[in-house]
Amino acid sequence: MDLLNIYSSYPNIRSKFDRNGRKARFQGTTKTDFLGWQLETRELLNKLLGLHKLESCPLNAEVVETVFLEGQIKREKILIQTEPGVTISAFLLIPQNKSKEEKACFIAPCGHLGGGKYAVAGALEIPGIQEKIQQFQYDYGLKLAKLGHVVLCPDARGFGESREGFSELKNLEQKENQKIFYECSCYQLSHMATAMGQTLAGMQVHDLMRMVDYLENRKEFNLENLGCIGFSGGGMQTLYLAALDSRIKQVFLSGYFYGFGDSLLIRNGNCNCNYIPGLLESLDCGDVGCLIAPRPIVIQSCLEDHLNGPRGIVNVEEQVNILRNSYQMFGIPQAVIFDVCSGPHSFHQEQIEKLLDNLQQQIMDKGSKSE
Ligand SMILES: [Zn+2]
Repeated sequence: MDLLNIYSSYPNIRSKFDRNGRKARFQGTTKTDFLGWQLETRELLNKLLGLHKLESCPLNAEVVETVFLEGQIKREKILIQTEPGVTISAFLLIPQNKSKEEKACFIAPCGHLGGGKYAVAGALEIPGIQEKIQQFQYDYGLKLAKLGHVVLCPDARGFGESREGFSELKNLEQKENQKIFYECSCYQLSHMATAMGQTLAGMQVHDLMRMVDYLENRKEFNLENLGCIGFSGGGMQTLYLAALDSRIKQVFLSGYFYGFGDSLLIRNGNCNCNYIPGLLESLDCGDVGCLIAPRPIVIQSCLEDHLNGPRGIVNVEEQVNILRNSYQMFGIPQAVIFDVCSGPHSFHQEQIEKLLDNLQQQIMDKGSKSE
């Protein structure tokens, strides 16, 4: 028998993306044009994510556990209702040794393979989490709390305690083998959502908006410079939340900023929860990022991250340039801080203090300019 040939559809799909993609990108010339574009495009993104299909409800928030980590950080476990019958569990990390100046509060969404909030909050009581924290420097929530920030680390639907399809048997198995804890069900949930005209990313962003509501309701924390920080799938949630919710004032996005053509149309190992129906016809990643302007943002990318696609970091730089052009409209291209790290897909904490200071400085500079 002759060898089989491979008749790929990719060139056809890519050609359509190159010819017809990014229809809704910014094409004006002035700052007024840009501000109008942001309003229209937020509405479009809202619709593409299916956010209008999510239902409101009382938060019914309840603190179910309080522990003290090394005597320095109070960790509350909180249950919050985000849609009727949907409960999201979150860890709220509150530093006990507050410095003189109150530091900004952060929301820290989670990505794949970290047991949801457990890796982000550095919850070592779950076996297997330590390994994931080491592999991806995943405990950025805990790191920020150690630096004096109040940090809310929620599960996302499909991760941690918000996984689907864990039958009684699976729950028993989980007690035996807690490594199951960092498996995800975003794949299945994303299929269900798509069939209902919704998206998993939209559900996750809706839940994060409810987390901001919760922090506001507590009235204990200064949310003036509220930040959002996320890695990988947590970076995706950070991108969409900050694009749509103006209550987020500063952004730290790691391992999720690249041209969708190279990264989502080619098999780079992306989970289906990254795919928003119709998005690529309208916007590329950098265009979504433009909805965050002029709020200061760190984009952290690794040179050997396979998710960057076959052209590597060039596929990130192109999107950062799209983003910088929009900040140029406000005269502050420096408010886009591009942190390129070595190695594969991972968060990097080595320079985190400097990067957070840089974000804070950008906020202060902006404040002093508008006075
Ligand atoms: Zn996924």
